[in-house]
Amino acid sequence: MAGIYVHIPFCKQKCHYCNFYSLSLQKLKHPFLNALLQEIDERKSYLQNETIQTIYYGGGTPSLLQAVEIETILRALKQQFDLVENPEITLELNPEDVSKTYLKEIKNIGINRLSIGVQSFFNDDLAYLNRKHSVAQAQQVISDAQECGFEKLTIDLIYGIPTLTDEKWNKNLDLFFQFGLKHLSAYALTVEPRTVLARRIEMKKAAAIDENQSIRHFEQLIQRMEANNFVHYEISNFAQPGHYSKHNSLYWLGANYIGLGPSAHSYNGSSRQWNTSNIDEYLQSTSRAQVIFEKEILTKTQKYDEYVMTSLRTSWGCDLEHIKNVFGNNFADYCLKEAQKHIKNNLLKQEGNRLYLTNQGKLFADGIAADLFCDETI
Ligand code: SF4
Repeated sequence: MAGIYVHIPFCKQKCHYCNFYSLSLQKLKHPFLNALLQEIDERKSYLQNETIQTIYYGGGTPSLLQAVEIETILRALKQQFDLVENPEITLELNPEDVSKTYLKEIKNIGINRLSIGVQSFFNDDLAYLNRKHSVAQAQQVISDAQECGFEKLTIDLIYGIPTLTDEKWNKNLDLFFQFGLKHLSAYALTVEPRTVLARRIEMKKAAAIDENQSIRHFEQLIQRMEANNFVHYEISNFAQPGHYSKHNSLYWLGANYIGLGPSAHSYNGSSRQWNTSNIDEYLQSTSRAQVIFEKEILTKTQKYDEYVMTSLRTSWGCDLEHIKNVFGNNFADYCLKEAQKHIKNNLLKQEGNRLYLTNQGKLFADGIAADLFCDETI
């Protein structure tokens, strides 16, 4: 079980909250595509012939590529990697880029799952975020994608935006259900350092985020999704049975993956590595047949910490038996001991050998996971 992530580092304009690696230098698109094909060739052995189940085009804005360019990348991946018969192939798209013709084209080349960056069904929220698209464009793309027969369709929504009242957030969820979508990714707006949003809030040009509002929205979200039979299968992801993202599940279940393109991360079970984020360096290094990356060999403790962090965020929970088998009894004992106070406070629950966050605990997921982390002396 393994996956491929392809990072397309271009955006038409920078959203104010975004700290992903992206550029507006579309003139670099062709050199980038050549470099990416070179990287695919160079790194074809990274996963040591593991079978690939999923491919994910993320960014940046992959829908800035023409269908024929996406197909060229896909063809190279098929040539160099061993793919299962029907891999899940996801493309992230932004509503402003996409026509019905484009959707038909990408469906024809094999894209079978779309992730649409809607963020909100209100234009004032989109303006706060500096998104380029309008609500009308977002609604049109969802309908067009449905008409084109994309059954695997997810949208992103953001909550906790200062302009997004509780009523508007409810309305966003109403619209999500009205479209009959089967998967939702919902994220709390966070102010990352060195983003335009951070500067605008500092200069009092944008309203600051209210943490209580985010918490209310998260609680509303859980309640509405549960009432509509969605599984909260990862802290930011909800799906009806059979509609989970296979690609993201693969990350959360600790499978191996290769990340291609500038700033993309890879994991092979023993080390994690990440490509240079600098596009010039990336282009030069691929032309010398040597992608520049940094690498970290993970210690047993780091692997345990990562397992606790990711597994707790999922509906599969943190498996003490797995910890015992992979890391040893002392890690499992430590984990269970540290979990006790959170079990007592109803933030964690234990069922058999597994620990799960309660709905209340989901509000403090990172802090609870950090309490279960080990130090190197264990
Ligand atoms: S479209 Fe996505 S990657 Fe590009 S700036 Fe906006 S949030 Fe960031």
